[in-house]
Formats: sequence, C-alpha cells, structure tokens
Amino acid sequence: MAKIINGRKIADEFCGQIKERVLEIKATGTTPCIALINASDDPASEVYIAKKKKLSELVGISSNVYRFANDVKESKLADLIKKINTDKGVHAILLQSPLPKNIRFRELVNLIHPDKDVDGLTTLNQGRLFSGEPGVVPCTPLGVLHLLRTVHDRLAGLHSVIIGRSSIVGRPLSQLLLNANCTVTSLHSYSQDLACICRTADILISAIGKPCFVERDFVKPGATVIDVGVNRIEKNGAKKIVGDVDFDSVSEIAGAITQVPNGVGPMTVAYLMHNTLKLACCY
Ligand code: NAP
Repeated sequence: MAKIINGRKIADEFCGQIKERVLEIKATGTTPCIALINASDDPASEVYIAKKKKLSELVGISSNVYRFANDVKESKLADLIKKINTDKGVHAILLQSPLPKNIRFRELVNLIHPDKDVDGLTTLNQGRLFSGEPGVVPCTPLGVLHLLRTVHDRLAGLHSVIIGRSSIVGRPLSQLLLNANCTVTSLHSYSQDLACICRTADILISAIGKPCFVERDFVKPGATVIDVGVNRIEKNGAKKIVGDVDFDSVSEIAGAITQVPNGVGPMTVAYLMHNTLKLACCY
C-alpha cells in the first residue's frame, strides 16, 4: 500500500511559516494584500474564492474580493485590473478561472502588472520561467514540487511523466521539473500509448480533469503519483469530488500517492499566499 502524501497537513505546516513571515513584514509597515476577482456564477469558483479569502485571513494577508455577474463586460474587468495595478496597497491580483465564454482570459491576464501577477500567468512571467529567469511561478506547480520534495530527497535524474499541458499546470510544472534536473515527458490529448509511457515514470502526475483516467496499469510499482485533477461526479445519487487517478487500484501499486481532496488543492492555496507575500516583499 502506497504512502499517502498528506497535502492538507503539509500545506498547514507551510502556512504556519508563511504566517510568521507575514508578521515580520507587517512589523515593517506593509500588510500584504491580494485582490481576488470572480466573474463567474459557477458555484465552484465561489467556493475557491471563499477558501482563498479564509486562508488569507488565517495567515494575516488582507484580501479584497471583487464579484461580478456572469454577463459582465470584458472592459469592466479590464478597467478594474488597471485600477488595481496602480494601487500601492494591493500587491497581488488573482483572476479566478474559468471566466464567462465571452471574456478573453489571456487578454485580461496580460493586463495584470507582472509584479502583481500572483499566479504567474502573464506572458512575461511564463517566459521568465521558461528562460530560467526569476519571476512569479504558478501556484499549483509550485505546490506539486513541494509535495514531491517531501518524498524525494533528490529529483535529479528521475523520470517525470506529466499528463496535461495547460499553461496553468502542465507546462509550468514540466519546466519546474526540468529545472530540478528530472527527465520530463509531457503527454496530452494527442499522445499515443499513454499507459505504456506512464509505466516508465518514477513520478507520474495527472492534470487533465478526467475522473479515474489513470488506472493501475499506468503505474510502475513504487512510483510516486500526484493527482492534480478535480472532478465533480455523481455516484449513487451523491455528489463527490474525485481526481484523475483511480485511487483504490493505484494506491495498491504506487510507492507514494496524493488523495483528492486534501492533496494538491490545499498546496495551491498555500502557494497563493506564498506568492502574495513574495510580491509584497518588493519582489
Ligand atoms: P485544461 O486547461 O483543460 O487542460 C487539460 C489538459 O489535459 C490539456 O493539456 C489536454 O490536452 C489534456 N488532456 C485532456 N484529455 C486528455 C486525455 N484523454 N489524454 C491526455 N491528455 C488529455 O485543464 P487544467 O486547467 O490544466 O486543469 C486540469 C485538471 O486539474 C482539472 O481537473 C482542474 O480542475 C485541476 N486543477 C486542480 C488544481 C488544484 O489546485 N488541485 C489547480 C488547477 C487545476 P490538449 O492540450 O491536447 O488539449
């Protein structure tokens, strides 16, 4: 049976350290502050915003939440971002995704000042990561790397297979692991023979949003399996959140594994706090 990588516990410990650092920064006269923008009427988005606000309060970071109806005009969101860009009291801006279909996510993200881009999604920050320059790195990949370091003293030379290549998870994670000297394979919806490639992984990460996609035959015995997926399903009439990994069968063969919930999710929010603090410290 695999060792469970307890993302909740690891995130709580990390947030304790962040809280101490926030106190130090506050003593110098700066209160780190994040703007959370939600323009979706998807209940899941509101849950994520509430979690982010709650954790901000817990670690002493101030948060301003901006909520808009689903039919908000892109120009209104653009104006808000430009206004917050010039507000010296706000250090970080998060644009909660998904946005309504009529709104162009990338255009809006690129309006965020790169030094307030808390999820490292602007083209500039993504370019910095890919060219090995210092910048803001997306929160979920940072959280995954943190979890991996609790299992592996040394990542160099390990073969990491990442399923999913989005700009918020898969791509930046590939780059982070490459920077950690892993051998990295990136899989996506056009990839062939996924199970066969995944079975060569020392570290297997799934970030695709397909419930129970990764089955036992994808996993090399003893491999570390990180499940980034968050999928809302209905089972026996009850609503449930599951990952991309078929936990019951995969945990029998993996060496270490995360669960959903309480795996990568808490680490993502913890790193949102970490990045806010970093930006407030005149990054
Ligand atoms: P996304 O933008 O929709 O990207 C999905 C990726 O998966 C794409 O690269 C896609 O390939 C690939 N893919 C889809 N179906 C596939 C298949 N059958 N075989 C191989 N690859 C496939 O999603 P995302 O934003 O990265 O999120 C992925 C999942 O992670 C979602 O469940 C999301 O809720 C979750 N998530 C969790 C956290 C957290 O904190 N736990 C944070 C962010 C996201 P193509 O590029 O070829 O289309």
